[in-house]
Amino acid sequence: MSDETDHVVVVGAGLAGVACARELRAAGIGVRLLDRGHVPGGRMASRRLWERRVDLGASYFTVSDDGFAAVVRDWAARGLAREWTDTFTVLGDGPAGSKTGPVRWGAPGGLRSLVEDLAAGLDVERQEVGGLDEVDADVVVLAMPDPQARRLCDGHPAAEVLDRDWEPVIAVAALWSERTWDDVSPTGRFDGAFVNDDRHLSWVADDGRRRGDDRPVLVAHSTPELAAQHLADPAGAAPAVLDSLRRVLHLPETDEVHVHRWTFARPVGEREEPYALVDGRGRLVGVCGDGWGPSPKVETAWLSGARLGRALAQRLG
Ligand SMILES: Cc1cc2nc3c(=O)[nH]c(=O)nc-3n(C[C@H](O)[C@H](O)[C@H](O)COP(=O)(O)OP(=O)(O)OC[C@H]3O[C@@H](n4cnc5c(N)ncnc54)[C@H](O)[C@@H]3O)c2cc1C
Repeated sequence: MSDETDHVVVVGAGLAGVACARELRAAGIGVRLLDRGHVPGGRMASRRLWERRVDLGASYFTVSDDGFAAVVRDWAARGLAREWTDTFTVLGDGPAGSKTGPVRWGAPGGLRSLVEDLAAGLDVERQEVGGLDEVDADVVVLAMPDPQARRLCDGHPAAEVLDRDWEPVIAVAALWSERTWDDVSPTGRFDGAFVNDDRHLSWVADDGRRRGDDRPVLVAHSTPELAAQHLADPAGAAPAVLDSLRRVLHLPETDEVHVHRWTFARPVGEREEPYALVDGRGRLVGVCGDGWGPSPKVETAWLSGARLGRALAQRLG
C-alpha cells in the first residue's frame, strides 16, 4: 500500500475530522481536509446574529480526558475558551430546581472559533463529497454522523458499521431587550436550564452568560419529536418553542428570532468503540466522530478523531 502514505483525504472538518487531520499531519502524512461548509466547525456552529456570535449547535463542552484537557488549557491560556458554569436550572412541573455537575466550558468567540483554531494551517478545502468514488485517495476518513457517512460509502463495507440512528433538534435563538430571567433560578443567576415535561422545549442556554458579554440572548433547543415534525419547515417549529420558553421564563414576545435545523443532532443508543477502520474494494476507510464513544459530545468527537488519526499514522507510517 505504498501510495497510502502520499495522502489521506479526511471528509468533514468538524472537531473530529480536524483532530484526525492534525494527528496525521504531525506524523508526517499528507492530508487533505474537505468540508461542504464555508467554514470548519460542523455542529460546533456559531453564527453572527445581532452583531455578535451566537452558538446554535453545541451549547458547551466538558473535559475529562488528559489529552483533551491539554488542548483546552492551551485555548484558555490564549483566551479562546473560558470556564462557564457548573450549575444549571431545572424547570418542569413543580418548583424550579438546580443541578450542579462538571464545569461547562464556552468560547468568547463562539465554539466554532475553537475548531477554526485547530484547523489553522490545515487548509480546509470547500467541497461537498457525493461518494467515495469522487475521492482520489486509497485512504479516506469520514468524520461525520452515521447517516451522512453511510450515503458516501458507494457499496464500501464501511457502510455496515454505520448503523446508528440519529435524532434531530431545532435550535431557536432569540434576542430580548433586557435580561429578566435570573429570578427563575433558585440560585438567583440563570445560565441555562434543562426543561422537563415539555412537549416542545428541552433545553435553553443563556448565550450572553456563556459568552461572557451578558447580552440578553437565549438559545432554545426543541425536543426531537417537535424537530422531526418540522424537518421540512424548521421555522414552523419556532412558535411552539418560543411559547414554551416564554412560559417557563416569564418572557414578553420578541421578533428577533433565528432558527437552525439539525437533522442529525445526536445519535440514539450506545457504541463504545472509538472509531472504525474498514478495508474493502481497494480502499481503507476510517470513520470517526461523536457517534464513536460512550456519549455524543464535543470531547468524544475530539478523542475519536485523534485516536483514529494516531491509529492510521501507525498503520501507514
Ligand atoms: C443542538 C446540539 C446541541 C449539542 N449540545 C452539546 C453540548 O452541550 N455539549 C457537547 O459536548 N456536545 C454537544 N453537541 C454535540 C457536539 O456538537 C458534537 O459532539 C460535535 O460537534 C461533533 O463533531 P464531529 O466532528 O463528530 O461532527 P460534525 O461537527 O457534525 O462534523 C461533520 C462535518 O462533516 C461535514 N460533512 C458532512 N457531509 C459532508 C459531505 N458529504 N461532504 C463534505 N463535508 C461533509 C459537515 O459539514 C461537518 O462540518 C450538540 C450538538 C447539537 C447539534
